[in-house]
This record gives sequence, C-alpha cells and structure tokens, in this order.
Amino acid sequence: MRDRILSLGLAIATCCAAAVVARAGDGAAFPWTDQAAKAAAAAGTAQSETAGPQSEAPANARKPKSGTNPAAVKAEPASNLAAAKSAPATEKSSKPDVVPAKKIFGAMTAPAQMKARAIGAYSRGCLAGGTALPIDGPAWQAMRLSRNRNWGHPKLVALLEKYAGEVKAKDGWPGLLVGDISQPRGGPMLTGHASHQLGLDADIWFTPMPSRRLSKTERENLAATSMLASDNLSVNKKVWGEGQVNIVRRVASYPEVERVLVHPAIKKALCEAGSKDRGWLAKVRPYWGHFYHFHVRIGCPSDSPTCTKQAAIPGDDGCGKELDDWFKLLTAPPKPKPPVAQPARPVKPKPPLTLADLPAECRTVVGDDAAVMTATGTAPANKSPPAAASKTAATGEKKPPNKKAADAK
Ligand SMILES: [Zn+2]
Repeated sequence: MRDRILSLGLAIATCCAAAVVARAGDGAAFPWTDQAAKAAAAAGTAQSETAGPQSEAPANARKPKSGTNPAAVKAEPASNLAAAKSAPATEKSSKPDVVPAKKIFGAMTAPAQMKARAIGAYSRGCLAGGTALPIDGPAWQAMRLSRNRNWGHPKLVALLEKYAGEVKAKDGWPGLLVGDISQPRGGPMLTGHASHQLGLDADIWFTPMPSRRLSKTERENLAATSMLASDNLSVNKKVWGEGQVNIVRRVASYPEVERVLVHPAIKKALCEAGSKDRGWLAKVRPYWGHFYHFHVRIGCPSDSPTCTKQAAIPGDDGCGKELDDWFKLLTAPPKPKPPVAQPARPVKPKPPLTLADLPAECRTVVGDDAAVMTATGTAPANKSPPAAASKTAATGEKKPPNKKAADAK
C-alpha cells in the first residue's frame, strides 16, 4: 500500500514547498501530523524550502533531514536577486555547469524575449517567452510580489484571468489570491517548489480575495488560512465551505487543466460534496501540503514540442481505495525507535541541478546572462520587466515593476 502511495505521489510529482512551509510571518503552525511528515520525508517529497525534490524521478528526490521540523525551515529570502548576489563564494565557479541552475534562473528578472514555449519537464525545465500575470485584475490579486513569480506561459496566464472572472461571475467567489506561478524564465528556484519550472503551474489560495486592494506589504505578510481541522484529517468547517468546492471544481473542469493538487483531507471533502458530475474529481489529486492553497497544472501547450507530458491520471474519481490508502498513511503510527540510538550515517546531499541537467534549449533561454554569471559568479545586470508586469489589468494604471519590489527589501 505504501509503495502505491509513494508511486502515486511521485507520479503526480512535485508539490509547492514554498507554500507548504509555514512562511515566516504567516504565523501558522505547521499542521501536519508527525507521522505524515515522517512518511513524506521517507517519500522524499518536498516539505521544505531547502529539501524539496529536484525532480519528479524518485532517484533524484532529496529527503529532508530526519527530525527536521518543516515549519522551522527558513522561508523565502526577501529577493531572489539579493540571494543570488549574496551566495557563498564557495559556490562560485568558472565552470558553467557547476553553478546551480537555481542561482541563474533565480537572478533573472525579465523573461526571455523569444517565442513562448515550455521546455522540458515540470521539475526540470524552463520557460521562453513568459508573460506576467498583472498583479491586479478585476477578479484577482497576486501575492508575495517580492518573489517575482507571477510569470507563466501565456496560455496559463490567459486561463488564470478567465478563471478569476468566472469564479466571480458564476460562483459568487470574491476573487482569487494568486500565489507562485513561475520565475520570468521558469527554471529551478532558490527557494521552494520542485516544479513550477515551465510556467504551467500556479498556486491559488483557498482564502477568498478581500474586497479591497491589498498593499504591497499586506501581500507579503497576509497569512494564508489552513483549511484543515485540528485533527489534520478533515476540513475545518469554519473556513471550508461551498465556495472552496466551487472554485476547485471550476478549475478542474477546464480541459487545459490536467491536475489540481490538494491535501488528502480536502480531496475527501470534495468527494463528499455531493456533486453529480464526478469527472472533474479525477483531476484533483491528493498530495502532501496543499491545505493553504491548491496547485493548478495545465498540460503541455501545443506550441511547446519539447515539453515533457506527464503520465495520465487514473480514470476513476479517486475517492475510493486511493484516498483510503492516503488516510492509512496519514494515520499510521510512527515507527518505534531502535532501543539503542544508532549514529547517523553522514548523507552526502545531492548536488543541485545545473544548466547541464536541463534541456539544452534552456541555455538559450538564459543566454548571455548565464555566461556573465558564470564568469563573475554574480548576477548579471537587471533587465526591466515588460509593461505587462507593471500595470493592472483592470485599469492599465502604472505600478512599480516587480523588480523594484524585489530590490527594495
Ligand atoms: Zn504549487
């Protein structure tokens, strides 16, 4: 059973560690059970900012240190760029393939001005021709602007805009709070997220959008609300309701959307919501974390021939044995400790992905900037993001570009 769970988890691959981790300032206790955390650790699933898997492949999954409290792991730095610039000297190298790809992609503040395409796999790839979701729209607000992760493939960005409009118009939902999508050129990130590398993944908060426009500071600090009850096995009816069911159902109903990741307790609540149409439930996949937000993933766009398609999802609604197996895992008693403590064997951490680990096209996507960074060990000069990143969709009003927000901290 456990193997089945693990293989299912790794097949759907990749959660969004940035939001799984209780962010500094979120003030929320990490609500996993200890068993669940340990089980996830054993599965090598992304629980923390620093220990997330680098790839969907089990062989490349990195396990969090035993006993690590995921809630205690430091959350995002103020700025990707700042983090890249302050990287330890020991990581500098004159060899292009030794520089971690996350440092190169994390330092990119503008998209590659190329034809849009998603390149490679969801957890090992990059994005050309990315566009920014405007930070404000008629029915959405982007959060955590300092991360500069409101970039995606144009098809995903267009879908999110349509989705936001429809939940407001048809579901009575006040609007979407949009979390991380991707970096301007996708790729691995300095913090969090094994996936989100192709501009085809987006995190949407379960918390409804407030009726007023949030300030930049509020977008950094506003705490997301966990949908779980104190047992961590069911939803908290004080915060979970029909609205959340409606918005997940709507996004899972779009043909472009291939998967929506939610915590198993949330999947259970969706299964029990009594929807006559069950087809959309097949796309809603249980996974660790995902109780502050859900993760939306679209399939490879037709303009992206080198985008690696994911395995097909099982054909049923996933409300039966699969969900039962998840709950067995969630409620499994912790393994008894050996009577005599064994000295821990030192584990050599897997090296981070480099450009050589990504599809060759990703070199073109980072272009000369990667060469500059490789030669100097520091981030290249910034390029201004396009206008799309710095104006609202609703009014066209000019806003400070995200780069400014990122550099201000
Ligand atoms: Zn995610």
